[in-house]
Formats: sequence, C-alpha cells, structure tokens
Amino acid sequence: MYQKIDNKIIQDLRNIVGADYLLNTRERLEDYGHDETPNLFFSPEAVVKPATAEEVSELVKLANRKNFPVVVRGGGTGVTGGALAIHGGLIISLERMNRILEIDNANMMAVVEPGVITEVLHKAVEEKGLFYPPDPASLADCTLGGNLAEDAGGPRAVKYGVTRNYITGIQAVLPTGEIIEYGGKLAKNATGYNLLHLLIGSEGTLGIATRITIRLLSKPKLRVDLLVPFPSYFKAVRCVSEILRRRLTPTVIEFMDQKCLEISRKVMEGGVPFDEAAAHLLIEVDGDDQDEVQAQYEAIGEICLEEGASDVKVADSPKYQEQIWETRRKLRECIKVVSPIKVSQDVVVPRMEIAALLMGIDEIEKRHGIEILAYGHAGDGNVHVNFLKRDRDESDWKEALEKAVREVFVLAVSLGGTISGEHGIGLTKRDFLPLALNPAAIKAMRGIKQTLDPKNILNPGKIFPLEKF
Ligand SMILES: Cc1cc2nc3c(=O)[nH]c(=O)nc-3n(C[C@H](O)[C@H](O)[C@H](O)COP(=O)(O)OP(=O)(O)OC[C@H]3O[C@@H](n4cnc5c(N)ncnc54)[C@H](O)[C@@H]3O)c2cc1C
Repeated sequence: MYQKIDNKIIQDLRNIVGADYLLNTRERLEDYGHDETPNLFFSPEAVVKPATAEEVSELVKLANRKNFPVVVRGGGTGVTGGALAIHGGLIISLERMNRILEIDNANMMAVVEPGVITEVLHKAVEEKGLFYPPDPASLADCTLGGNLAEDAGGPRAVKYGVTRNYITGIQAVLPTGEIIEYGGKLAKNATGYNLLHLLIGSEGTLGIATRITIRLLSKPKLRVDLLVPFPSYFKAVRCVSEILRRRLTPTVIEFMDQKCLEISRKVMEGGVPFDEAAAHLLIEVDGDDQDEVQAQYEAIGEICLEEGASDVKVADSPKYQEQIWETRRKLRECIKVVSPIKVSQDVVVPRMEIAALLMGIDEIEKRHGIEILAYGHAGDGNVHVNFLKRDRDESDWKEALEKAVREVFVLAVSLGGTISGEHGIGLTKRDFLPLALNPAAIKAMRGIKQTLDPKNILNPGKIFPLEKF
C-alpha cells in the first residue's frame, strides 16, 4: 500500500534536513522502534530531526508525493503505541525543536516549540513566579507536543484540568504539508471551527504541532499534602466524592489499593507509611493564603475521618512531602520489579462509580485468575488498571489478559465511563473503540481524518479499528 523509502527518497530527506539529521542505519533506527508501551517494536525505515516548521512541511509534502507514511515523535513516553511506525516509513522526531520561544509575564503566556520537555517548561515559568499546572508523571521525559497530541493529564487535573485547558494557540503542519495557525495569546476565541481543539488529543493523526501557545497561572505560594489510610477502598472512594461534593478544591486526590501498597512495601527499602491499610488517598491542597490553605486541609482531614479514615498524616515541608509522595511516584517501578511484564490501561468513570469499577475489577481478577492492581487519579474518576504477568505461562497469560482487558473496558463503559482518560487510543486500544463510541461517531471521526489526510499519510493505523484505516 505504501512506497518503501528508497535511496532516492533518502537523498530527498537529506536535502531537506541535512545529512547530520537523518538516521537510516539499523542500529540508529532501533531507538525509535519502541515507546513506553510494553512489548512492541516497529522499526521505521528512516528518522529525521527537522529544526523548523518549514522543514516539517517539506517532509510531509514529500511523503504525500512519494506515498510513504509519517509518524511524529516527541519524548517517546506514550503508552498506547502512538509514536510507533507500524507501517515502517519515516519518523519525524521533534527533539531539535526544543526552544522556549517566549515567556510573556504580562499576558501570562508561553510560546514553545513542540519538543520542549514538560518539566523544562515547569521550571522555566516557575522561576518567573508563573505556573503551568499539567503534570503527567512522565514530565521529565515527555514533550509538550506529545502532551498536546494525547491531551495529557496528571495528578493536578482535579483542580487545574488537563493540557487542553492551557493551550490557546497552535501552529501545525497538516497531513498534506500545509502550515496552519489558529489562536494565539488569547483568553477567548470563537473564530470558525476550533482547529486547535481538533488537533489537541488527535494523537498525531491530524497534524504536527510545530509551535504551541500556552496559558499560565500564578504559582501558588503554599502546598500541603495529606496521606490518608482507609480500612476499605469503598470508604476511600466514597470520601473522594464527599470532599468534592462539599465544594472543597484539592489540587490532587490520588488513590492506591491494598495490592499496590503490599508490592511497594516489599520493594521499597525505607518501607511505606500505613502499609497495613486497604487503600490510601494522597491529597494535596495549594493556595496563597496560609489561613485559607489551612482551613481547606483541616476540612478535608475532618471529612476523611468522618468517612472512616484511620489517620490523617499532614505534610507541609518539602522533605516530608517528598516522603509521602515517594510511594506513589515509585509505584510503577515497584510493580515492574515484581512483574517485569505488565500491561496498564487507563479507564475513566464518573467519580461516584469508582467503587463499582473496583468491585467489578475484583470479579474480573477472580474470573480469569489474573492479578490486577488499581491506582490513579481518584479525583477525576481516572483509574490505571495494571494486569500483571508475574511468572505465568505466555500463552495462558495472553488469553486471560485479552479477556480481562475487554471486560474492564466493557465494565467502565457500562458505568458511564470510557476506555481512556489520558493515554489515548493509539495502537493498543484501537480495536476497542467501538465499545466506547457508536458507529456514527466513529464514521464522523473517520470522515475528519479522510478530509485532512486523503492519502492516509500521517500516523496510519492508529485510533481506528482495522477494517478501513
Ligand atoms: C512513567 C510514565 C508516566 C506517565 N504518566 C502520565 C500521566 O500522568 N498522565 C498522562 O496523561 N500520561 C502519562 N503518561 C503517558 C505519556 O507520557 C503521555 O501520553 C505524553 O503526553 C506523551 O508525550 P511524548 O512527548 O512522550 O509523546 P510520544 O510518546 O512521542 O508521542 C505520543 C503521541 O503524540 C504524537 N505527537 C508527539 N509529538 C507531536 C506533535 N508535536 N504534534 C502532533 N503529534 C505529536 C505522536 O505521534 C504519538 O501519537 C506516562 C507515561 C509514562 C511512561
């Protein structure tokens, strides 16, 4: 269906980006054959590292003329295979487009190239007393372009929302190679179809972001964390609803179940506070006024105790905060120690349904004899469901996994939820899309893709189940 990248095309690519920024040897290509999705490898035929939107545009126009697929790559931290070149072809890596172009203090906006690492932006704006809230746990490695493409969230989404809530302008290369601009340093915009919001969350299938304008806030002066153990996960999730129902506005409400705590206890050298609990909530409150922050966390602490928490640990110094966040931050690594092969899915349900989701997951675990751990952003109803292989036989594991994953998705949808809250659909969830969206919705999405990308050049094979593209 696609043209292979031959010597003539290699020469054309070299002419566009320069010889130093073209990779086409097997060893160099290997690094770009995987992202953070377990057990997937697809080698591209070539990788280029352009420096400007014009070069990206030339590359995409060439791909249209010669009919080879293009996949854009940011930090490669995606967990649904979005940045993988499943049909071979060209990877456009944006690692050189990594400049913060402007931090505009007066308008509280930043303008960045897409390859800027999220944490680098955090630090740069915080030095100026400003604040970029989206904080995916991968922030030390992921890029703002990748965050835009996946509409990344993070723990602070409870109070501050996700990437979409902070992007106000974009320059992008369309799948045909044309460059568009939409929005800018604007608080509002009602100009035609909102192409910005069409591209946000489009998983690198509708355009390549080459410049991003970002809304910033003032950096909160104070931050206090609470670690709260509960005797049952049911009580913990009911407490989450109660906190939010009473109109308190924590920044973060993270949840961990007992199995996660057990694994962390075994792996982490310094131990885990409250490791005997059936569930933990990790709650953060921020603000500028000492009395207001104190009133918030005291009110939250009281609700936790009313809802059955056995204790409330308050951390208001950086050292202590680091201690109580450590278990949550290292959880992924700890799980990998006990089961190097694991599959993680993120589902989202209405907050009040988290308990029903967790109960259903317990049943699925028993039915298929597969170990499942749940943790995540309880304040958003966004649960990361981890399926552990441990030392189970490969074919037996695959069979149980397939059934269990499908059942978790069916369960989430039956509770009014959906199959991704922040990781996207990519490759690994594309066959499940019809569980979450009806045929008319999928047809409308395919129509948008076909209009913008008539030759199906940009990131083919992602999002949509296979029958078409
Ligand atoms: C340890 C760990 C923790 C994580 N925690 C979170 C979390 O808390 N919240 C969360 O939401 N996600 C999380 N993720 C998932 C991942 O980090 C996010 O999806 C992130 O946004 C991906 O960014 P990236 O730069 O690595 O993108 P990549 O993996 O390189 O690409 C992801 C997708 O974006 C597209 N893309 C990349 N750049 C552009 C661009 N400039 N224009 C258009 N499309 C582009 C790619 O084609 C691909 O489809 C985590 C991952 C790991 C490994």
